[in-house]
Amino acid sequence: MFIEPKMGKSRTGTEHRGGWIEVICGSMFSGKTEELLRRLNRAIIAGQNVEIFKPAIDTRYHDQNVVSHNANSIRSTPVQFANDILLLAGDCEVVGLDEAQFFDTDIVEICNKLANSGKRVIVTGLDMDFSGRPFGPMPGLIAIAEYVTKVHAICIKCGDIANYSYRKVASQSKVMLGEKDTYEARCRRCFNKGSAAEQKI
Ligand SMILES: [Zn+2]
Repeated sequence: MFIEPKMGKSRTGTEHRGGWIEVICGSMFSGKTEELLRRLNRAIIAGQNVEIFKPAIDTRYHDQNVVSHNANSIRSTPVQFANDILLLAGDCEVVGLDEAQFFDTDIVEICNKLANSGKRVIVTGLDMDFSGRPFGPMPGLIAIAEYVTKVHAICIKCGDIANYSYRKVASQSKVMLGEKDTYEARCRRCFNKGSAAEQKI
């Protein structure tokens, strides 16, 4: 279980607001968005000002909501470019970013700027694409984050811990939105077995 970091105290003992970055990453069906919502809801209960952004590309469920698979949702703002977040974040204390793998690479610097200005930044995203390669800006975000939580799904084939998002339909496009009809969570062994079988066809 992730323990929320506390606000720091300066050497003189006075309270100061230091920002930081948390990354929640993993495969599809690993509960990334549920974990984001858990952390954000706790901040909201504490009376903190929270803003949530997601790439405009991800409109699977609803334009205005970050919606996890269990339909527990918080309103969010779809943005076209990572840069827009700096303007929109305003004076909020906590910034949530969902589906960060779809943001352009500017998102890494944007997150740094947000944290440097004293905000808590919580980022979720797929760390690997359907071919098992690092996804978009995620490696950069993981590198600059103070806290990284990798969550896992369960392999649909064998029940082991799943680290990969296996695409069930033939398409080489990196961005392909979908849920259970398009992807399944698989462990390393079952992911490799599936990819090898595909190559024989
Ligand atoms: Zn497996």
